Amino acid sequence: MSKFWSKSTHNLAPYSPGEQPQDKQYIKLNTNENPYPPSPLAIQAMHDAANEDMRLYPDPELKKLKDAIAEFYAVSPEQVFVGNSSDEVLAHTFAALFKQDRQKNKSLLFPDISYSLYPSFCRLFDIKYEQIPVADDFTIQVDDYKKDNSGIIIVNPNAPTCIALSLDKIESILKANPDSPVVIDEAYVDFGAQTAIALINKYPNLLVTQTFSKSRSLAGLRVGFAVGSAELIEGVERVKNSFNPFPLDRIAVAAAIASINDKNYFESTCKKIIKTRNETREQLISLGFEVSVSSTNFLFAKPKEGINAESLYLSLKEKGVLIRYFNAPRIDGYIRITIGTDKEMAVFLEKIESLMQGQTINNF
Ligand SMILES: *Cc1c(COP(=O)(O)O)cnc(C)c1O
Repeated sequence: MSKFWSKSTHNLAPYSPGEQPQDKQYIKLNTNENPYPPSPLAIQAMHDAANEDMRLYPDPELKKLKDAIAEFYAVSPEQVFVGNSSDEVLAHTFAALFKQDRQKNKSLLFPDISYSLYPSFCRLFDIKYEQIPVADDFTIQVDDYKKDNSGIIIVNPNAPTCIALSLDKIESILKANPDSPVVIDEAYVDFGAQTAIALINKYPNLLVTQTFSKSRSLAGLRVGFAVGSAELIEGVERVKNSFNPFPLDRIAVAAAIASINDKNYFESTCKKIIKTRNETREQLISLGFEVSVSSTNFLFAKPKEGINAESLYLSLKEKGVLIRYFNAPRIDGYIRITIGTDKEMAVFLEKIESLMQGQTINNF
């Protein structure tokens, strides 16, 4: 707190990301990073871009990168927005589409179990919101989104529940809400769900956001994008150009283009992660965990009766394996495990098994 802060700064509720410990080496399964390196072509492109041209500003239109993304998804470049991380793309989206006139007394709708950055954005932009409870099995009930609102945002597949919504169900939300902007945050879509990008020409109110951080192994680069009708994209561009006209540096642009063009590498790493995920799920089930079917690069699991999720997280941390525990309503009995390499998952399973049967059981 400080007397120099503006009133709105006092009222913020900042998001707290998962730990990025700097003290020791963990097997890091806590922030949904990709265990495989970025495409070698992307790494080469970063080296190549570190040259004398760095004295020049990058292209404010980001034309080459937009063209590459547009080509990959078979849309037109006017239907693409690029930003410095999908978190920033989402922030601009909240400002451009969701910051409605409070007088109207309508709320932005999103599930009660969802990305916890959204309520922080609502505070930042003074947006009224309503969290719609997911069902007991954590599935999103689309009929609950067929009521008056100022906008809708859904993570698909959802985080941290890892459950995907079918394209039909997303379409039924779009159909029921022709006057509201509907944003689908597809941070994990490449690990097993269907992208709603296929619907953008049919629904001018649809904006889909994606990131290079998860399926393209570039969390350190900070590149995200949105695909939607030219009308929505133009709105988000207006906000971006009122905030930071040059959000991506030359190195990020070069790496992102190389990454999107290296389709084979992308597909093969996604495939490896999906395979490891499915195997890890089976093994956790055999250890007595309840584990939702995952369409993401992580698992959401409930330990068997008598084992406390938070203690499990703490004991694993002590043993050098970092997973995520959320001390939040409805999900405080669960752990979230990012999928690592086969070797990392073998160590994780071995530690978890020994904790569950061993002397340390008293800790739970
Ligand atoms: C990781 C994540 C993002 C953010 O991705 P960045 O591009 O790294 O900012 C957005 N939404 C959800 C649901 C995520 O899990």
